[in-house]
Amino acid sequence: MECTRAAQVRIGNVNAVTRVPVRDDLSALEGYHSPQVDVSVRLNTNESPFAPPPAWRDAFAAELSRAQWQRYPDRAATALREGIAAVHGVSPQQVFAANGSNEVLQTLLLTFAGPGRTVATFEPTYQMHGQIARVTGATVVEGERAADFSLDMAEVHRVLREHLPSVTFLCSPNNPTGLVEPEANIREVLAAAPGLLVVDEAYGQFADWSALGLVDEETPLVVTRTFSKTWSMAGARLGYMVGPEWLVAELDKVVLPYHLDLAKQIAGRLALTFVHEMESRVQFIVGERQRLSAAMSALPIDVFPSGANFILFRPRNHGGRAVWQGLLDRDVLVRDCSGWPRLADCLRVTIGTEAENDLFLKALTEVTA
Ligand SMILES: *Cc1c(COP(=O)(O)O)cnc(C)c1O
Repeated sequence: MECTRAAQVRIGNVNAVTRVPVRDDLSALEGYHSPQVDVSVRLNTNESPFAPPPAWRDAFAAELSRAQWQRYPDRAATALREGIAAVHGVSPQQVFAANGSNEVLQTLLLTFAGPGRTVATFEPTYQMHGQIARVTGATVVEGERAADFSLDMAEVHRVLREHLPSVTFLCSPNNPTGLVEPEANIREVLAAAPGLLVVDEAYGQFADWSALGLVDEETPLVVTRTFSKTWSMAGARLGYMVGPEWLVAELDKVVLPYHLDLAKQIAGRLALTFVHEMESRVQFIVGERQRLSAAMSALPIDVFPSGANFILFRPRNHGGRAVWQGLLDRDVLVRDCSGWPRLADCLRVTIGTEAENDLFLKALTEVTA
C-alpha cells in the first residue's frame, strides 16, 4: 500500500487515494495572493526601496561567522527582546517577537481565538487578520467602515455588543487605505471591547502618533510592529508586539520552541543599533509620500489621505483594472485592489525611490489622460 501511494505521487497521478480532505472549515479558504511580476519599477508590496545600512550588513556577517550553529538558539530571544524594549521604553517581558508580525498575529489568535470564539475586523483592512483567524478555527465578524474608510463608531459598538469578540483588530495606519486611526477612536474601542484589542502598526513609524503609549499591565491591548517595512528587512521575517507581561507569558507557552532562529535574532538585535538610519529612511519616504500625493491629486484621481508608505487611489475616468494594466505596460507594478470587496477601481502604490516615484507619476499621467 505504501509503495502504491508513493508511485502514484511520483507519476503525478493525483486522485482520491493521494489527496486527503482538508478540514471542512478550511475548504473555502482562498489563501494570500500578491502576484510577483518581473518589472523594473515594483511598487506593490509596501517594502522599503532601500537596503539596510552597509555597516549593518558587515556587523551581521561578522557575528554570523562566529555563531554557535550546533546549539539551539536562545529560546527567549533575550538580547533581541531587551533591544526592542529599550527602543520603546518598556520591559523586555512586555515584548514578544516572532517570524514576521504575521506569526505574532497567528500566535495571538492561537492563544485568544480558535474554535467557538469570535474575531472582529472592520473592512476594508489587512486581509490576513481574518485569514489567520479563520485558520485557527475562529468565527470572523466583518464590521463595515464608513464610505471614506474611517471607522463608523456606531457600527463598532454594534459589532462589539452583538458578537462579543474575543479579539478585535484595528490597523493604524490601515492597510490598504492608509488611514491613521485617531487616538480617541482607539480609546473608545478599548473601553467597549469585551476581549483583546490588537492594533496592527506595521506602518506605525510613518504615522504621527502610535498606540504604544496606551499599553500597560491593566489594559487588554497589544500593538504589533514589523521589521519588514520601516526597517528595510522584509527578507528577515521578523516582527514583534508590545503588550502586558501576563499576556506575553501566555504566548510563550503557545509558540513553537526555538521558533526564532539564531540568524534572525542577530539580525534584529543589530538592526536596533541603527535606529537613526531607519528614521532617516522613514523621513525621506514621508516626504516622497507628500510629493506623490500632491501630484496625484492634480490628476483625475481620488487620492486617499495616507499615514503609511503607500497611497490608495481611485482613477475617476478609467477603470482601476485598466489603469493597473496601463501602468504594467509601462513597466510599473502597483497593487490591484480593484477586485477586492469595497475597493472597486482602487489601486495602491508603494512609495519608492525618487526615480521610481517619477517613473510611476509619468506613467500614471499618461494612463489617466
Ligand atoms: C506587511 C504587513 C504585515 C506583515 O508583516 P510581516 O512582519 O512581514 O509578517 C502585518 N500587518 C500589516 C497591516 C501589513 O501591511
